Amino acid sequence: MAYKIAIIGGGWYGCHIGLALQSLQMDVTVFEKADRPLHYASGNNQFRLHQGFHYARHHGTRIQSRDGFIRFTERYPNLSAPIKQNLYAVPRETSLMDFDTYKLIMVSSGIPFVEMPEGSPYLTNIDGVIKTDERVILLDNARNYFSQRLKGNLHLNTAVEAVSNSEDGVVINGVRYDYAIDATWGHYTKPPIKLIYEPTILLYYETSHDMPAVTFVDGPLSSVYPTEDPSIFTLSSVVHTPLGQFSTPEEAVRTRDDVTGAVSLAKRQAMEAQISENFPKFRDYFRFAGVQLAIKTKPVGNFDDRSCYVYRDRRLFSVLSGKIDTVFFAVERILASIETEQSNAGTPSIGPIKGDILQRELADKF
Ligand SMILES: Cc1cc2nc3c(=O)[nH]c(=O)nc-3n(C[C@H](O)[C@H](O)[C@H](O)COP(=O)(O)OP(=O)(O)OC[C@H]3O[C@@H](n4cnc5c(N)ncnc54)[C@H](O)[C@@H]3O)c2cc1C
Repeated sequence: MAYKIAIIGGGWYGCHIGLALQSLQMDVTVFEKADRPLHYASGNNQFRLHQGFHYARHHGTRIQSRDGFIRFTERYPNLSAPIKQNLYAVPRETSLMDFDTYKLIMVSSGIPFVEMPEGSPYLTNIDGVIKTDERVILLDNARNYFSQRLKGNLHLNTAVEAVSNSEDGVVINGVRYDYAIDATWGHYTKPPIKLIYEPTILLYYETSHDMPAVTFVDGPLSSVYPTEDPSIFTLSSVVHTPLGQFSTPEEAVRTRDDVTGAVSLAKRQAMEAQISENFPKFRDYFRFAGVQLAIKTKPVGNFDDRSCYVYRDRRLFSVLSGKIDTVFFAVERILASIETEQSNAGTPSIGPIKGDILQRELADKF
């Protein structure tokens, strides 16, 4: 049956879910309040197509990333590109785990890598280094792809302001839909778990050298990763990238919008000092180019759960993404929930088994 479905938010999640449901002949409308798709977190992040190497402390996230990476490269062959040299390094003094433990965790999750016993000439004071095949997401291609494929079903400059949810459907801006999906990363409805809204600052750097991507693991460490332009990299730090932690999106938005030049200078000094501890010539190879501001929505917890969750309240789903590679998981959960509801509609929960019980006179047989 072709359901009429509304999606709130045209980030990676809203666009991917919209396209997937559209290809199943559903009547999809995506509402995006900005004037282009992938404008918010989906257009302001490190653009890394993860395989799971970031998440030594969360099994579910590693498995979703490992599988999501393969599915992403199959489904969107033109929306990511390989990285020339992508290294994960375990610093001797600051990592929360040693290199052998880190490798064991990745091997046990079936995530492929190559060990580099010789290390890297750029890095010092390292317990071990691996090379991996992660990719970079091509933002501009993705924006064009979704704009073209969703065509008239993507309504830009359209903020959803009123949602009325019931057992029979959802009314949005006065129109009834069979189902609605909140893909605003927790900015419209709040999923029923404890969330943190974290305004973030990433730094852009230019380089004229052929530099590797380097991610230091595991713990509150830093990473430098290329964008779709191989001469521009982002520098991120688990400890310095956050600008605070808030329980409402409004507070996070205010903090992001109030960032001053002094704050970004302090962050720059802190991030450069941190990465230089293990990448001593960082400042010689990279030239600061500017900042990127965003807001991250995270479940409360210390083991870095970045898996994707889908919640349902009557006919309204809300999707909590972890990363971009987990978009496939969201569609599956939504379709499974709709299928279960429709397949079981009208089926009484207790069947009339008493009618099938045969009455026989057994006494004379024994
Ligand atoms: C600093 C940082 C680095 C990251 N690095 C990576 C990385 O390297 N790799 C990775 O995979 N992930 C990364 N992530 C996570 C990734 O960016 C998110 O998981 C993903 O972009 C979330 O997509 P989304 O569609 O759920 O949300 P969003 O992209 O935020 O989209 C939500 C959309 O909803 C719209 N919206 C909100 N309210 C309304 C409304 N009322 N009506 C209509 N529209 C509305 C917004 O305008 C927005 O476009 C990073 C995130 C941050 C912040």
